[in-house]
Amino acid sequence: MENQRSNPRRAQSGPLQIKGMGHQILEAHDFKCRFVCRQQPDAWGYAVFEGLLPPGDTEAPAIARIETRKPELGSRCFQIVSRGRTEIQQRFCDEACPRDRLERYPGLVRIRLKPKLVNRRDRDPALLVHLEGARDSLLIDCGSLDAVPKVELLKLSHLFVTHTHIDHFCGFDRILRHVLGGENRIHVFGPPGITRNVQGKLDGYTWNLIDVGGPTFVVHELDGDQKLTTEFTCRRRFAPSFEAVSSTIESGCIVDDGRLKVHFAALEHQIPSLAYSVEESPFASVRANRLGTDGPRPGPWLTRLQELAIRGWGPDDTLEVAGCIRRVPDLIDEFIEVKPGVKIAYATDTVFNERTLATIAQLANRADVFYCESNYQDPDEDKASSYFHLTARQAGQLARAAQVEKLILFHLSRKYLGDIGTSILQAKEEFDRVE
Ligand SMILES: [Zn+2]
Ligand SMILES: [Zn+2]
Repeated sequence: MENQRSNPRRAQSGPLQIKGMGHQILEAHDFKCRFVCRQQPDAWGYAVFEGLLPPGDTEAPAIARIETRKPELGSRCFQIVSRGRTEIQQRFCDEACPRDRLERYPGLVRIRLKPKLVNRRDRDPALLVHLEGARDSLLIDCGSLDAVPKVELLKLSHLFVTHTHIDHFCGFDRILRHVLGGENRIHVFGPPGITRNVQGKLDGYTWNLIDVGGPTFVVHELDGDQKLTTEFTCRRRFAPSFEAVSSTIESGCIVDDGRLKVHFAALEHQIPSLAYSVEESPFASVRANRLGTDGPRPGPWLTRLQELAIRGWGPDDTLEVAGCIRRVPDLIDEFIEVKPGVKIAYATDTVFNERTLATIAQLANRADVFYCESNYQDPDEDKASSYFHLTARQAGQLARAAQVEKLILFHLSRKYLGDIGTSILQAKEEFDRVE
C-alpha cells in the first residue's frame, strides 16, 4: 500500500473486491488497482480505471483497462453493486455498459478501438475492430474469415462491407455459421445491392428445423444520403421481416451510439466501393492530481462536470463543489481534460483520381491509422487504373492528402509474391509513416 492520501478511491473505500472472476484486489492506488486471479496466481495485473467512480451513484459504469501478463483475462467493465463504509464491491459484468447508460454518462466511459487485419496483406481483406471496454466488436469487409475464432464472431455487432466482390464478402458464410447459436443482432452496412446479396446468402440454405432464437441481420443499404433498412430474423427463417424502411443520412454518419461514430463515402471501382471511418467518442479525463488532499473530494459534481465537458455548457452554468458555487468553464479548465478519440479509416478497391483524393482527404482526415489498399506497384500503374485499383504510391498520396498519422498498406496483389517491402518504399516516397 502506498500513498493513500492522494488516492480518492482508496480513501473512501478500503479494500476493493472484484466479484465473479475470483480476482482478489491486492492494492489500490488512485485509479489503479493491483489484483491477482485466485485460480491462476501468476495472473496478476492492474485494473486501470478510466474515470472516477462517482460516489453515491451506483448506476454509473466505470471502465477498467486490465493490464496483465495473461492477455486472455482481457478487458472488462466493472459496475458498483454496493458500497459499505469500508468496502466497495464490484461486479465483474459484461453487461455493465448498455447504450442507454453510455448515453447518460458520455465522457465517463471510454471505448478504445483495437483494429487488426485478419489475414496476410496479400490475402482477402477483413479488418476486425475490437472495442476494448465493450463486449461487442466490428468488422470491416469479410473476405476469408478462417483465421477468426468463433468466440470473436459471436461478439460481432456491426459489419461494414465495402462492396461484394467475392474477396470482400465470402466470409459472410462463416459469420452466419457461427452466430446461428446466439441471438446476435448484427447490423450490416453496404453499397446498393447489399440487401439482395445478404438475402441471397441466407436463401442459399434450408431453415426448416430452425424454430427459436438465432440471430437477426439488420441490413442497411447506403446510397448517397439515403439508407434503406431491411431486417432478416432467424426465427422467421430469414424472410425479410418488414418492408424496407428508408431514412436520410446526415453528413455521411451511419452510426452514432454514444461510443463511436462511423462515417462512409463512396469510391469508384466501376461499381461503388464504400470507404469507412470509425471514431471513438471524446473522453473527459479527470485531472486526478487536483483532487484529494488539497483539492475537493470527488463526488457527483465531477460526474456532472465530465458530462458537461462532452455535451457542452452555457456561459452561466454553475455547479456546487464542496459548498461553493463555481462557474462550470472554470471547473472544466481546472479538473477536466477532453481527449479526442482515436480515429481509423479504411479504403479499398478504388480508382485514383481527383474525386478519390478529395473524398479520402475528407473521410480519413487526421485519422490515427489509415488502412489503404495498394494492389499494384509503380510499373503496373496502368493496370491499377484499368482495374479500378490503387498503387502503393497512390495510397501514399491519399494518406498525405488526408494528413493521417499512419498508413497501413493492405490488399496487395499476389503477383508480387508477398513483396510488401517494395510497396512500402514506393508509398514512402509520398508519405513518411507507412507500414
Ligand atoms: Zn473489388
Ligand atoms: Zn478486392
